[in-house]
Amino acid sequence: MDLFYDLHIHSCLSPCGDDEMTPYNLVNMAKLLGFDLIALTDHNTAGNCRAAMLAGEQAQITVVPGMELCTAEEVHMVCLFPDIERAEAFSDFVRTTLPPVRNRPDIFGRQLYRNESDEISGEEEILLLTASSLTLGQAAAAVREGGGFCFPAHIDRDSYSVLSNLGAIDPSFGFTAAEVYEKTQREPLSRRHPILRTMRLLSDSDAHSLEKMREPDEKLSLPENTPQALLALLRQELQD
Ligand SMILES: [Zn+2]
Ligand SMILES: [Zn+2]
Repeated sequence: MDLFYDLHIHSCLSPCGDDEMTPYNLVNMAKLLGFDLIALTDHNTAGNCRAAMLAGEQAQITVVPGMELCTAEEVHMVCLFPDIERAEAFSDFVRTTLPPVRNRPDIFGRQLYRNESDEISGEEEILLLTASSLTLGQAAAAVREGGGFCFPAHIDRDSYSVLSNLGAIDPSFGFTAAEVYEKTQREPLSRRHPILRTMRLLSDSDAHSLEKMREPDEKLSLPENTPQALLALLRQELQD
């Protein structure tokens, strides 16, 4: 089946995420827009994924649990997991690699845990916007060890991206996918970095507010609409 996807969306748990980006709201907005499959990827945490998956079950849209990890090099990487247990286990691990800096809600915004019915179930006190002590290589290895899949985020942006911060994608990291925010940048980037021709290039909204969620645009072909099937597809290496 061909499925409309958006694999990079933030909720109100990200300090920069709108308070209206509750798990219930973002899942139902995605459904309304016509998506079949989305991933919730807050900064350095999977803390709202369980609620989003429950909301997804009710709305009949697949929600893949994940996070957007900030590595020691300040490279953003989207990490996806086949189930909530593995996502939460990885999230607990990442927490131990974050500096113990407290959030300043007045400066960075609130970091709200909400359940699938939108009720606030807690507020995160550790600032989630900082960089983990894990290098990109260490992080990629840890995601794989934890049963997940990861790809470098918005590689066409000039900050927090693997190309802006490291200059190239090291083949030893074994990435089989990468996210290009602007689809029109895929070809020019692939000319400059031929390694991209061996990778599946994805484009996601990286939405932090309901208004910034995109219209469905591109589809992935999966045998079934599940996180497991998505991860299996993304792990495949493309032939040049
Ligand atoms: Zn990012
Ligand atoms: Zn993001």
